[in-house]
Amino acid sequence: MLKDNILKIRERIASACAKAGRAPDSLTIIAVTKQRDPEQINEAIAAGLDEIGENRIQEAVAKYALCHPQKWHMIGHLQSNKAKEAVKMFDLIHSVDSLSLAKEIDKQARKIDKVQEILLEVNVSGEASKFGINPEEALALAGVISVLKNLKLKGLMTVAPIVDDPETVRPYFKALRELKEQINRSGVAQLEILSMGMTDDYAAAIAEGATMLRLGRAIFEG
Ligand SMILES: *Cc1c(COP(=O)(O)O)cnc(C)c1O
Repeated sequence: MLKDNILKIRERIASACAKAGRAPDSLTIIAVTKQRDPEQINEAIAAGLDEIGENRIQEAVAKYALCHPQKWHMIGHLQSNKAKEAVKMFDLIHSVDSLSLAKEIDKQARKIDKVQEILLEVNVSGEASKFGINPEEALALAGVISVLKNLKLKGLMTVAPIVDDPETVRPYFKALRELKEQINRSGVAQLEILSMGMTDDYAAAIAEGATMLRLGRAIFEG
């Protein structure tokens, strides 16, 4: 079943990429494995999805010893007091949403002699229920982060609102891409990654330039 689901996803990615004039290998699929057990994760890895995304530190710790993907991604809200655990496990932290969290990750990464790759989570829709910085803060924050020696800012991440018609969230994905372009033009950082697009809206995200898709249900539930 997992294999069939992945095949379907790859076909949808290929057609969305063809429409957008993009190469399918310009996209990374992150298998989001919150609430999935280690057997399911290992099945996904065996089927070729070797980048795994987790939302909660405690859940990730329990799986870390049992699963060996090529890369671990932290995609959920991170509290500063969990930064120490996070830098030990994760190759990329997508959910940096404050300067104080960035500074704490920098400090903990320095202790283990690591340069931690991060993304800034941006709340482009402005929904009160969502984590993430305001788009207007992004440029200034990128500038401050760029001087922290044990952080490497690689890009931006967003979670779009839940809607019936995924086309209606395209403006949010477009806004994130434009923010990335603005930061790159400013010269404070050179960002490559746009982490956007989930099960219900990844075709729209591809059309607007996503480079990392975070897929859970599409993989594990089809
Ligand atoms: C759960 C989750 C996903 C995956 O959601 P699906 O709709 O199952 O694809 C992606 N990103 C974040 C931040 C999540 O929490």
